[in-house]
Amino acid sequence: AKYVYTWGAGKADGDGSMKPLLGGKGANLAEMTRIGLPVPPGFTITTDVCTYFYAHKRSYPTELQSQMEAGIRNMEKIMGCKFGDAKGMPLLVAVRSGARDSMPGMMDTILNLGLNDQTVIALVNATKNERFAWDCYRRFIQMYGDVVMGVQKRAGEEHEPFEVVIEEVKHEHHEENVDDAHLTVEDYKELVSRFKKLVKERTGKSFPNDPWDQLRGAAGAVFGSWMNDRAIVYRRKYNIPSEWGTAVNVQAMVYGNTGENSGSGVAFTRNPANGANEFYGEFLINAQGEDVVAGVRTPEPVANLKKEMPKSYAELLKVRATLEKHFKDVQDVEFTIQDGKLFMLQTRNGKRTAAAALKFSMDMHKEKLIDWETAILRNPADQLEQLLAPIFDLAEMKKAKELAKGLPAGPGAASGKIYLNADRAAAAADKGERVLLVRNETSPEDLRGMIAAEGILTAKGGVSSHAALVARQMGKVCICGASAVLIDYDKKTVTISGEVFNEGDYLSIDGTSGTVYGGQLKTSPSEIITGMVNGDKAAQKTEKFKSFQQLMKWCSQATRLAVRTNADNPEQTEEAVAFGATGIGLTRTEHMFFEGDRIDAVREMILAETEEGRRAALKKILPYQKEDFIGIFKALKGFPATIRLLDPPLHEFVPHEPAAQADLAKKLGISAEKVAARVHALHEFNPMLGHRGCRLGIAYPEITETQARAIFEAAAEVQKKGIKVKPEVMIPLVGFKKELDLQVAIVHQVAAEVQKEKKVKLNYQVGTMIEVPRGALTADEIAQTAEFFSFGTNDLTQTGLGISRDDMGNFLNAYTENEIFKKNPFASLDQTGVGQLVKIAVEKGRSTRPDIKLGICGEHGGDPDSVKFFHKVGLNYVSCSPRRVPVARLAAAQAAI
Ligand code: ADP
Ligand code: MG
Ligand code: MG
Repeated sequence: AKYVYTWGAGKADGDGSMKPLLGGKGANLAEMTRIGLPVPPGFTITTDVCTYFYAHKRSYPTELQSQMEAGIRNMEKIMGCKFGDAKGMPLLVAVRSGARDSMPGMMDTILNLGLNDQTVIALVNATKNERFAWDCYRRFIQMYGDVVMGVQKRAGEEHEPFEVVIEEVKHEHHEENVDDAHLTVEDYKELVSRFKKLVKERTGKSFPNDPWDQLRGAAGAVFGSWMNDRAIVYRRKYNIPSEWGTAVNVQAMVYGNTGENSGSGVAFTRNPANGANEFYGEFLINAQGEDVVAGVRTPEPVANLKKEMPKSYAELLKVRATLEKHFKDVQDVEFTIQDGKLFMLQTRNGKRTAAAALKFSMDMHKEKLIDWETAILRNPADQLEQLLAPIFDLAEMKKAKELAKGLPAGPGAASGKIYLNADRAAAAADKGERVLLVRNETSPEDLRGMIAAEGILTAKGGVSSHAALVARQMGKVCICGASAVLIDYDKKTVTISGEVFNEGDYLSIDGTSGTVYGGQLKTSPSEIITGMVNGDKAAQKTEKFKSFQQLMKWCSQATRLAVRTNADNPEQTEEAVAFGATGIGLTRTEHMFFEGDRIDAVREMILAETEEGRRAALKKILPYQKEDFIGIFKALKGFPATIRLLDPPLHEFVPHEPAAQADLAKKLGISAEKVAARVHALHEFNPMLGHRGCRLGIAYPEITETQARAIFEAAAEVQKKGIKVKPEVMIPLVGFKKELDLQVAIVHQVAAEVQKEKKVKLNYQVGTMIEVPRGALTADEIAQTAEFFSFGTNDLTQTGLGISRDDMGNFLNAYTENEIFKKNPFASLDQTGVGQLVKIAVEKGRSTRPDIKLGICGEHGGDPDSVKFFHKVGLNYVSCSPRRVPVARLAAAQAAI
């Protein structure tokens, strides 16, 4: 089998489409080579080898060695030098990981591999640059020692062991604290020898001398790192399956550290924070690439290259244009300039904030780089909510004190209590505090704290720092490199322009402008919400609003699946309609029971001992429910409304505390014992499988009768005002056709009565929820009666998996960690399991009633992956909470493209 794919000198075995096999980095290195960009030659060891590695006790297929040798020979031919050559210029290589999806900072890279005590002399002789050669050597030992041999900070140690050695040498050889640029050749030689000693001390092993041993060790470490903790945490967060594996790239080194005419940098072809069409990035003169992101030296903005290396800058701009034209998307590139010559080391689609994604998609469509369908696809549905996130209240912001400025790395507004360490931040967030993580810079170790925080503020680091990368990806509010922020980790204080903040004090950060404010600032809704829902004219003039409108318009053009909303009152309904919902997919009638003192009447009904008593109480409830439905029907302006009849078990409505029970007894004029006895009688061991759903209406038909009457009287009234009304009465928790028949008969009878009384003709339907497996499996029978199905995927998941949503907390972590759940099945539909129940019900339902209307109203209606599934199985609509409507519209459109 072919395990090694080479590239170089304009030719490549692979190409950009082969990411599953070659990983993202390898596939794009091949692609860049093919389109004529200056890429140092190399080869990719495929992800198949990673799979093999883990399936065979961390060993390799036998063919690998010879294929790697051929790969090295190819590089040697192109570069004109030999791997391990102790006489002429030696070929040195970089060993680079590369998963299918980029996992920034998660896997480790080793540079300058191939150096030993002999080849370093050869490198000195060939380049006549002794300082450079020894710098490369000490870097190599440091990286290899850390990543491959595991020489790392031990518990209780404050600094990285290699850094400690560097500090020692600096102190011994120099007057004061100098930076790395002042280290001499002698210093570097000293470092090399002490580093080797350190490796031996710590590991008991000598540093490997043979370049081939080095190479095999490095490749093994990259494969091994696929299963390190950082990588696992990251994969879990982004739902990357561990089966994918990583590839290993071995590439000829080019050197950014040969002198003042060299350097390394990273850049985005456009601004990934706000979307502006500007070349955006940073670089370091006389440095290898790791230095740029490591935060040891502060990089310069890439625009400075224009002055410092005008020729290379012009070349870089040309590459920028070529890349965007070829990939038709914003690219995130890594480059090195060696003695004035530019080399491209990586390109990938740039991670971006939702705001940037929106602007990129609109701009690139205008530039005719992409068509409108592609523009839709360029907006990640699961990020869209970022655009709806609050901004700081304008009035508050004017009053607030501006304390510092930094790089706006993640747009949005965040206020919270500051914490200077990831563990404490995460612990505070667990307790329900809103938290800002404040650090000099972040590293992958801080990931848990970053996930927990509302926002991230760093004092150091630039646009390619770890904090900026992660914020961009997670959609966190983030400011980087706010140098006026002085952090004292020991005292746990932050000092900004003389003002001291302790851990637990409030700061506010505006990641759109990069401004840090003291105290807690109020937020106000995003322009998109005020523009759409409140019709705010100023908001509607913003570019963000207009772009969003355009995107939604395109979504309507593309989509087949309609998007409805789950709404229980007129306000929610109006908001959802403003966001483009075309109806209500679920109104939970009981939600209104808790408004005002309505609950008293509900409780009276529950406690009544006779049908008469119940009817008397229901009479009090009827006008309330009618009012609610009138409000909702009006807000819908002619769109249909699916209204679910009473669903939860009755005990949810009665008080359980003795004091409250006594109160209620007094109100109803009965004894407290009676109330307590009834509450006791309502107790169920398994309420979710108990007396609820249609089982209530079957035991107490008068409840169904009353609710149906409220619906139809409201409909009649609104219709008389000239507004179209389309009620869809929905019977919950049906598993037997007979259950539905009994309830539907009542609904039809009430409908007939109301139509006669009010002298109107109502356009209504009666249908059911499919939310227990028996309902799904007998959907053909049920469809004889039901005019529509709505999949209640929350209950269908509970009953399908036999897992109680409310009791899952105890084992959810274990299930996620063991990857039994790839995703929480209550957030994202279990497509292979519960999804089959949906599929079966769709097929069976349509077999009896071809025009049956099919929708879904569980939480899953707002989850992009689930929406795509519902599109595929042919539902007519999804329904979700009002704020998720744009997300669902985007996901539905993307599913149709
Ligand atoms: P990551 O995935 O963490 O970005 P990379 O494999 O891209 O890791 O390597 C990190 C950095 O190492 C790159 O940004 C680049 O500056 C440097 N580097 C990688 N390959 C080479 C090479 N062939 N020559 C010189 N520098 C390299
Ligand atoms: Mg990289
Ligand atoms: Mg349900």
